[in-house]
Amino acid sequence: MDIILTADRPTGKLHLGHYVGSLKRRVELQNSGKFDKIYVMIADAQALTDNADNVEKIRNSIQQVALDYLSCGLNPEKSTIFIQSQIPELCELSFYYMNLVTLSRLERNPTVKNEIKLRDFKQSIPVGFLTYPISQAADITAFKANTVPVGEDQLPMLEQAREIVRSFNTTYAPVLIEPQAVLPDNKLCARLPGLDGANKMSKSLGNCIYLSDSAAEVKQKVMSMFTDPTHLRVEDKGHTKDNPVFIYLDAFAKDEHFGAFWPEYQNLSELKAHYERGGLGDMKVKKFLNQVLEATLEPIRARRAEFEKDIPAVFEMLKKGSLEAREQAAQTLDDVKTAMGINYFK
Ligand code: ATP
Ligand code: MG
Repeated sequence: MDIILTADRPTGKLHLGHYVGSLKRRVELQNSGKFDKIYVMIADAQALTDNADNVEKIRNSIQQVALDYLSCGLNPEKSTIFIQSQIPELCELSFYYMNLVTLSRLERNPTVKNEIKLRDFKQSIPVGFLTYPISQAADITAFKANTVPVGEDQLPMLEQAREIVRSFNTTYAPVLIEPQAVLPDNKLCARLPGLDGANKMSKSLGNCIYLSDSAAEVKQKVMSMFTDPTHLRVEDKGHTKDNPVFIYLDAFAKDEHFGAFWPEYQNLSELKAHYERGGLGDMKVKKFLNQVLEATLEPIRARRAEFEKDIPAVFEMLKKGSLEAREQAAQTLDDVKTAMGINYFK
């Protein structure tokens, strides 16, 4: 059986980083017909681990994320889209997995370390936040997923989940499946930087182009993007490396975009060469980047407008998905309890 699980935290609307890092791949995998089951989870319980006092934000974001999914082409006929908190079996699984993980191992997890720093928790780290890699292992194993399409920031999470699986399977009985991460083919898409060019694009950092931004918002964000600080006049030689505008072009531009929007160049290498030898202004490059991004965003925006017309149908879809997901998670929990020898009344 080939089974996928992927998830997003409903801490805001989804952005271009999600699209290239994970969403686009999910839709391709969904449509490949190669998978027996695809589970797509809105991780609200996980989002609460660092938003305990902001339930309102999480609740509102569930609808946004569901609309983002549908408008990017996730199809509830082919994928089970569900809400994490509606599957209580996941908490039970986490509770047993907690006994297989040490505190020092959690503290060593590079993603957790980095996120603690970004969130400025200092000594006040919520226990739920520190242990979220364990709950993530529960999410993946509950659905017996062997494939997890993610961005690079999630690799240490996957490694931790694999360790938990191995530990469970050797301690009790081999009932859990070890998952594999699937990264985007394009290295740059595995960790798309934000508009600031410094950190990865992340909802929590406010450096995003959202899939639901209007054309005017996208344009404004692109036009005010950071570029090469040494490229002051058009005649100056420019740098394309570490230049966010070119990083985005590397991630999004295809040869056909040149034909359609900027026939002066055949491809990105030619454009880069011109920028590097001087004589090409940032505004022109940004205008092209805006057109390239719109080629992806415009169809997503149009589909979103359609789904927005019937919000109750979106929630009905989530409810149906959650019921279906719960059945599978209950089955796994039963296997786990049997493996552990705590299914006393069976
Ligand atoms: P938060 O700041 O709330 O953690 P986020 O923007 O990091 O939000 P997540 O919901 O944590 O988004 O991530 C969902 C998925 O999107 C994960 O698979 C993650 O690897 C991927 N992803 C997130 N940001 C990027 C990015 N900038 N580039 C590539 N992939 C990304
Ligand atoms: Mg994140």
